[in-house]
Amino acid sequence: MPVSLVTGGAGFLGSHICERLLREGHSVICLDNFVTGNIKNIDHLFENDRFALVEHDISTPFHNDWTIDNILHFASPASPIDYLELPIQTLKVGSLGTHNTLGLARAHGSRYLLASTSEVYGDPLIHPQPESYWGNVNPVGPRGVYDEAKRFAEAMVMAYHRVHGLETRIIRIFNTYGPRMRPRDGRVVPNFIRQALKGEPLTVYGDGEQTRSFCYVDDLVEGIWRLLNSDNPGPVNIGNPTEMTILQFAEEIIQLTGSGSTIDFRDLPVDDPKTRQPDIRLAREVLGWEPRIALTEGLGRTIEYFRSLESA
Ligand code: UDP
Repeated sequence: MPVSLVTGGAGFLGSHICERLLREGHSVICLDNFVTGNIKNIDHLFENDRFALVEHDISTPFHNDWTIDNILHFASPASPIDYLELPIQTLKVGSLGTHNTLGLARAHGSRYLLASTSEVYGDPLIHPQPESYWGNVNPVGPRGVYDEAKRFAEAMVMAYHRVHGLETRIIRIFNTYGPRMRPRDGRVVPNFIRQALKGEPLTVYGDGEQTRSFCYVDDLVEGIWRLLNSDNPGPVNIGNPTEMTILQFAEEIIQLTGSGSTIDFRDLPVDDPKTRQPDIRLAREVLGWEPRIALTEGLGRTIEYFRSLESA
């Protein structure tokens, strides 16, 4: 029975990954320091005796004597608001946290999967973005702490692969949404749904003409599972190529919630990327993966989740 360690396992993505790995028969060690993670995301997993929680900040060294077959490094603040509030923790978990988990993987002979991001492409000058694109990142802007930490993390993973022969995987995650997103994490999906459910104006930043491509969490987790079990060491984009403007997205949320909310235009945050769409040809080719869940269906499930929080 494989043993998998998931850093950031109590976060939005991490908790869904823990759940999937348990379902696949793995024993799962969830490691989290609860800076942005939430115990409620994993409460239901404790009834499984193959699940264990370790409260630890992975930016500091972590040692143990267990056998660990897989390490999935997902710990990091992940919303622009979070990394504005936690810039140093964001840099540390992407750099020191990656180094610590790679060291652990080397000591245990584990397979290693890094959660990277479409943010490595910055404000992209190529559209859609293939893995071969090197990106357009401002290292000293407010988003630089996340973008550069993840770029460093990718470089570190490749170095461990090349120097130590570690079995590595890198996933570049594009905007993902679903149940267990924090209602106040500041990202567009929770913001718009929360605002729509309360009948408050939806806060569209800039003119709303910037684009994003949203992937439902179950599709992402399927991609992670396939990547983990593949033999592809380099980065693979996982995301849903269906692209829309933020204004169109706001209108979609208003319609799906049946809300009477209006739109309130606000200032565009510094370095907000103008476009973002994954080129998923590589994922199709090497993983046979593509997204299956349509936006209306995924948003429907997510809106239900946010409703259940409000009535709780
Ligand atoms: N955004 C918005 N209103 C909000 C939150 C975000 O218009 O209340 C915009 C933001 O400016 C960006 C897009 O939605 O263009 C996605 O933002 P998010 O923070 O979700 O993630 P990003 O893709 O920027 O990392």
